[in-house]
Amino acid sequence: MQSSSLKGKSALVTGSTSGIGLGIARSLAAEGANIVFNGFGDAQEIAALQTDVAKEFNVKTMYHNADMSKPAEIEALMRAANEQFGSVDVLVNNAGIQHVANIEDFPVDKWDAIIAINLTSAFHTTRLALPKMKANNWGRIINIASAHGLVGSPQKSAYVAAKHGLVGLTKVTALETAQTGVTCNAICPGWVLTPLVQKQIEARAAKEGVPVQQAMKELLAEKQPSGQFVTPEQLGALAVFLCSEAASQVRGVAWNMDGGWVAQ
Ligand code: NAD
Repeated sequence: MQSSSLKGKSALVTGSTSGIGLGIARSLAAEGANIVFNGFGDAQEIAALQTDVAKEFNVKTMYHNADMSKPAEIEALMRAANEQFGSVDVLVNNAGIQHVANIEDFPVDKWDAIIAINLTSAFHTTRLALPKMKANNWGRIINIASAHGLVGSPQKSAYVAAKHGLVGLTKVTALETAQTGVTCNAICPGWVLTPLVQKQIEARAAKEGVPVQQAMKELLAEKQPSGQFVTPEQLGALAVFLCSEAASQVRGVAWNMDGGWVAQ
C-alpha cells in the first residue's frame, strides 16, 4: 500500500481511549501524525496511553476530555487542539455508544444520547474543523459509521438512524469540499471485538443462558459471513489509506470492512 506520511500533521480522533478509535489513533501516529486523544476512562491510564504513543511513534500527543454530547465542550476541544497544533488536519469522528431495545421500549434519553454522540458531534467537529482545512487546502475527515450505516437490524433504532445519518453527512461534506484538497469519507465496520461489542455478547450469553464463547460465535454467524472479527488495526490501515495522496479522489464513499456483512 502507498504510505502517506502524516509527519507534521495533527489528527483528532474522538473516542480514542478505547477500541477502534485507539487503533486508528495508533495507526495515524505510526505515520507521524500528532494525536489529539479524546474519550472517557481512568485519568492515569489515559495519561499513560498518551505518553506511550508519543514515545513509540516519536509524535506529540494531547488529551481533551470533552463529552461529545455537549456542543460547548466540543468547541472547547477544537479550540484546545488548534492552540496546541495550529489546526486539525485529520478529523476522525469515532466516538459512539449503543443501546439495544425495541422502539416502543427505547428509553428517550438513550435515543437522544445516541443521536448526539454518534451523529450530531460529527456535525460540530466538522463545522469547526473545515475553515482551517479549506484555508490550508488539505484535510481528511473520516466518519466511523458502521454496517448499520448501510443496513438495519432490529432493536437498534437510534444507532441505525444515527449511522445512516452519518453516511448522509459524509456525502454532503464530500460534495461541499469536492473542489478542494479536503476529502470526507465514512468507514463502515462490521463486528469488531471492543468493549462496545463485548457488552452485547455478554448480554446475549445471559439472555440465552449459554457460555460467552458460544454467544460470540452465534453473534458472528448471524451477520458476518467470514466468521471473524474485523480488527482495529485493519480499520487503522484503511484510515491511513484514506489520508494518502492515492485516496485524494476517494470522496463521499461509505466503505464497508465487515467480513461480508452487507454483501448478503
Ligand atoms: P468503545 O466502547 O471501545 O469505544 C468508544 C469510545 O468512545 C471510547 O473511547 C469512549 O470513551 C468514547 N465515548 C463514548 N461516549 C463518549 C462521549 N459522550 N464523549 C466522548 N467520548 C465518548 O467502542 P468501539 O467499538 O471502539 O466503537 C467506536 C466507534 O466504532 C463507534 O462509533 C461505534 O459505533 C463504531 N462501530 C463499532 C463496531 C464494533 O463492532 N465494535 C462496529 C461498527 C461501528
